[in-house]
Amino acid sequence: MSAPNKSYDPVEVEALKPEEIERMRDEALAAFAAAADLEALREAKAAHMGDRSPLALANREIGALPPQAKADAGKRVGMARGAVNKALGARQAELEAERDARVLVEEAVDVTLPYDRVPAGARHPLTTLSERIEDVFVAMGYEVAEGPEVEAEWFNFDALNIAPDHPARTMQDTFFVRGATKDAESGVVLRTHTSPVQIRSLLDREPPVYVICPGRVYRTDELDATHTPVFHQVELLAIDEGLTMADLKGTLDHMVRVLFGEDMRTRLRPSYFPFTEPSAEMDMVCFACRGESADDPDRPCRTCSSEGWIELGGCGMVNPRVLTAAGIDPEKYSGFAFGFGIERMLMFRHNVEDMRDMVEGDVRFTRPFGMEI
Ligand SMILES: [Zn+2]
Repeated sequence: MSAPNKSYDPVEVEALKPEEIERMRDEALAAFAAAADLEALREAKAAHMGDRSPLALANREIGALPPQAKADAGKRVGMARGAVNKALGARQAELEAERDARVLVEEAVDVTLPYDRVPAGARHPLTTLSERIEDVFVAMGYEVAEGPEVEAEWFNFDALNIAPDHPARTMQDTFFVRGATKDAESGVVLRTHTSPVQIRSLLDREPPVYVICPGRVYRTDELDATHTPVFHQVELLAIDEGLTMADLKGTLDHMVRVLFGEDMRTRLRPSYFPFTEPSAEMDMVCFACRGESADDPDRPCRTCSSEGWIELGGCGMVNPRVLTAAGIDPEKYSGFAFGFGIERMLMFRHNVEDMRDMVEGDVRFTRPFGMEI
């Protein structure tokens, strides 16, 4: 006679021991109680009542037991599952009630509150003016060129014929990122003007070259009503065969007419810049008094101090040394360049009296310019 098959004894089936079933039930009840929201409860339900849950697996074991043991085990598992199911239903009702109460509070609309619609923003007038200037030149066939703001000293100074002992290189005017090293490697600066983009443009392209280079530049100035250590310039460069000072003058006249009105004109005064020869300061007729205050003592003009002209920027014919530095034959090609500060032009154009207004980011300053494009 063989010994009874021990695997049919319910006590021997690990998952069906009374204390094991109690443990499964208690774990399920604890998990439901701990579920903080309906999503967590759904997860707890899957873990403790799903097809792969301990109680479901235990239930499957029952079928293999002899009849009496099957009834006992079935009763225990059934009671446990009943208790778990009941607890789930109760917790579900609780959490749904909580959610409904919360939604009522969170989604309530107080129609008596003042409206808080955010006013439409405005682009910064420096951006819009810069783009307007670009448009003037793009319409004439120029290309917009950009360069890095952290620039090699060679591009910022040497290539532009600014000698190593030029005062502009000293720490007083220039932010140095890194000084030149002993092995003659170029230092690195925050560019002090947009002119290095001229050199980069010439190295990148074959003549003829017509580029406009707008961008941010840096000088070690304190921020006050007329200075800022970070400001914007627009630089223009044209290189072609046979360009003369007359082409430069015509281009400047066209620019001020488009930007300031049909009867505007410019004048050039001799000046000096290392990267142009000859060089000139460029003035335009005061747009406020149209130049009339100069001859009429009874009509003083604050904008031009009654001089009739406003200084706008510097210009000239590109120095042959600059062309040579960029690998262009100065015997064959000539060109002109000019540059000016956009902040300064904005001050003239819109009677902005304090440069700090342009950098402080107060929307009360930018808003009146609206969405001008
Ligand atoms: Zn004036």
